Amino acid sequence: MDLLNTLVDKGLRRELPSRDEALAVLATSDEDLLDVVAAAGKVRRHWFGRRVKLNYLVNLKSGLCPEDCSYCSQRLGAETGILKYTWLKPDEASKAAAAGLAGGAKRVCLVASGRGPTDRDVDRVSDTIKTIKEQNEGVEVCACLGLLSDGQAERLRGAGADAYNHNLNTSEATYGDITKTHTYADRVDTVQKAHAAGLSACSGLISGMGETDEDLVDVVFALRELDADSVPVNFLIPFEGTPLAKEWNLTPQRCLRILAMVRFVCPDIEVRIAGGRELHLRTLQPLALHLANSIFLGDYLTSEGQAGKADLEMIADAGFEVETTDQVTLPEHRRGGGCGSVCGSQDKADETPADTAPAEAAQPAPQADAPAAPGPRTDLVTVRRRGAGTDVAPNA
Ligand code: SF4
Repeated sequence: MDLLNTLVDKGLRRELPSRDEALAVLATSDEDLLDVVAAAGKVRRHWFGRRVKLNYLVNLKSGLCPEDCSYCSQRLGAETGILKYTWLKPDEASKAAAAGLAGGAKRVCLVASGRGPTDRDVDRVSDTIKTIKEQNEGVEVCACLGLLSDGQAERLRGAGADAYNHNLNTSEATYGDITKTHTYADRVDTVQKAHAAGLSACSGLISGMGETDEDLVDVVFALRELDADSVPVNFLIPFEGTPLAKEWNLTPQRCLRILAMVRFVCPDIEVRIAGGRELHLRTLQPLALHLANSIFLGDYLTSEGQAGKADLEMIADAGFEVETTDQVTLPEHRRGGGCGSVCGSQDKADETPADTAPAEAAQPAPQADAPAAPGPRTDLVTVRRRGAGTDVAPNA
């Protein structure tokens, strides 16, 4: 396919595809899917070899958030049954981090719910970062604490943080549809503050919230413009008790096309498969390793992922290797900064075919005897009941 040859050439040269080319990737058919994966896989291997970076989430403070992000199980008033607890102590956080590092992770992501940290919160997290760094040689630490005020990024950097995560989540045009309590501009400002303080900027998206292909392309181009070092690609986990609980819009094939598009637009940037991997890619997870060079090990903030051991087996079976602390993630020309994260817009599960995205509308009608596509796998959404904030051993 001419499109794919062009995109591979551009990816190897670090040249930005056009918006139309990015949209065309999202509009490819299921019949062409393996060609798309193979093409984007060439770009991935050129810049990252067969390495897979493992990241480990430690939820420092869970639930109790005053913000209203409609995709989030921790939002104001959400009845999601998640664990709720206030700040972990530095030793508790370090213990949780150590479990992930022992499981093969090289980066620990310290996350706290809330609009943004107070100066006292920055002190707490700084103590936690120092403790983790003292107790775990070579670990990379990324903080994710919400919107930053002036000077806070510098203080986190001074405490030893390597990166700061704050996702744009979706396009500027649709941001107001998913969150009313802060703006897209607020989010951009925090990513820029992190960058300016010398932190590696980690910022990503959430797909499956009902967004159009144009929204997806807009947010990925915006992330590239912000020069994020890592881009987490989340697939919406439609939590019961949130406004997006019925948004089961993604198929494994759609997830692969999204990851391929992100890879072509961000050829030399860490592309991380984030939340929703097990739920939406399901048995096609190993194919996604040909597109992304980074995943989360074990559980997510408020939901459980597949067993850490299964993550490691999948990586080995697919012919990839876990990146070690003596290997540098980013290609040489990008070294010296940052990190990445998630978000998206609306694609209704009960849309008629005429309402679906062009890529899906272009699919041939299924054969009469074709196996029925599985419905929403609500059974795969499991609230986290182990690890940080509990007495139960973590999944790592
Ligand atoms: S995404 Fe963050 S700010 Fe938004 S509701 Fe969830 S925890 Fe709060």
